[in-house]
Amino acid sequence: MKDDRSRELWQRSQKVIPGGVNSPARAMLAVGREPLFIRSARGCYIEDVDGNRYIDYVGSWGPLILGHADPDVVAAVKKAAEKGTSFGAPTEAEVNFAEMLTRLIPSMEQVRLVSSGTEATMSALRLARGYTERDLIVKFDGCYHGHSDGLLVASGSGLATLGLPSCPGVPAEVAGLSVSIPYNDLAALEKLFHEKGDKIAAVIIEPVAGNMGVVPPAPGYLQGVREICDEYGSLLIFDEVITGFRVALGGAQELYGVTPDLTTLGKIIGAGLPLGAYGGKAEIMQKVAPCGPVYQAGTLSGNPLATAAGLRALDMLDVAGVYQRLEENSAKLYDGLGDIFTKAGVPHYGNRVGAMFSYFFQKGPVTDWTSASKSDTEAFGRWFRAMLGRGVYLAPSQFECTFMSLAHDADAIEQTLSAAEEAIKEV
Ligand code: PMP
Repeated sequence: MKDDRSRELWQRSQKVIPGGVNSPARAMLAVGREPLFIRSARGCYIEDVDGNRYIDYVGSWGPLILGHADPDVVAAVKKAAEKGTSFGAPTEAEVNFAEMLTRLIPSMEQVRLVSSGTEATMSALRLARGYTERDLIVKFDGCYHGHSDGLLVASGSGLATLGLPSCPGVPAEVAGLSVSIPYNDLAALEKLFHEKGDKIAAVIIEPVAGNMGVVPPAPGYLQGVREICDEYGSLLIFDEVITGFRVALGGAQELYGVTPDLTTLGKIIGAGLPLGAYGGKAEIMQKVAPCGPVYQAGTLSGNPLATAAGLRALDMLDVAGVYQRLEENSAKLYDGLGDIFTKAGVPHYGNRVGAMFSYFFQKGPVTDWTSASKSDTEAFGRWFRAMLGRGVYLAPSQFECTFMSLAHDADAIEQTLSAAEEAIKEV
């Protein structure tokens, strides 16, 4: 694999950008290689600056469920750009987009658009605290909700990959207002609420965890979390930045039949443009300025390019059969890989919910961060490099998801499985 140009850019980038990357997970440190610099992508394929082409299962870390450079999305963005890139004033597209979100995710009676998942979760927490007049937040070990101060406690994603338990720069007083407990453990949550329930503003959870690798909620777990929140008057926030429009059209809340008070969205709703959202019960959302006293704002919020892309993307997802197709293709790849691992005698454990899955290099089961962290990350590194060398671009960490898109067709799946049959010999 020729990578001269990527290496050259990597040398240059490290001089002017910390670690050479604008988001740590891109650095590929955990899999023992330097990052590839990408020049273009289309459908399920991504191409680096040396001209190598890969089948891409990262999809920009989740947003690209339609595949790269979807022609309809690109046309919508071009058309919007020609009319102006930002106005700092309300637009019709924002109204249309908010109406669409509230229709497809009925628990979101009102929504506020922001520009990233981090902004969405940070704002939802402020709102929960303002609404309940309480300060404590409960999160779960291995879940990641963006990089705002109070949420960088026992986080997943890049922090898990780099083995960072917490983050300098977050004052102890701030970190102390977040309590992190094990995922899928209702007894731990009950105990915590028993001790501090009247101080807890909200529980924030990834309804399917995707930042310690994929970890689904145990049967009845989300219902149990809902009941505990209700008992103590705390808000339940579903962080559906990954799961929204991925595991079902109505997100994980539709799939599991559990209704949160607030929902945060990002990734897929912007189709690769910077767009996030938070929303929920109107009574709670009415506390947001200018209706209420909880302040939250953004120069580029509801940006016309992002809303144009988002509207087009959600339109294309709101079509009968789309999620069935994603489910079938994901199952085909996931089952095929499982068979290959089994035949090769490589210890593995898989979790899949719709178009997101992970194989952990260990016997399992993987139900929380403690069990996920027992994976053989060296074996994962060998697997990653062997697949990359055969034209398959996986997320460069054991603790991230494989994301399927509608652009991964039978051919791409077949090619991936052929690559895997060879690659597994190097694990
Ligand atoms: N919540 C979840 C569940 C996420 O996976 C992420 C990002 N991977 C975020 C929030 C933060 O989103 P962003 O990177 O857009 O700020």
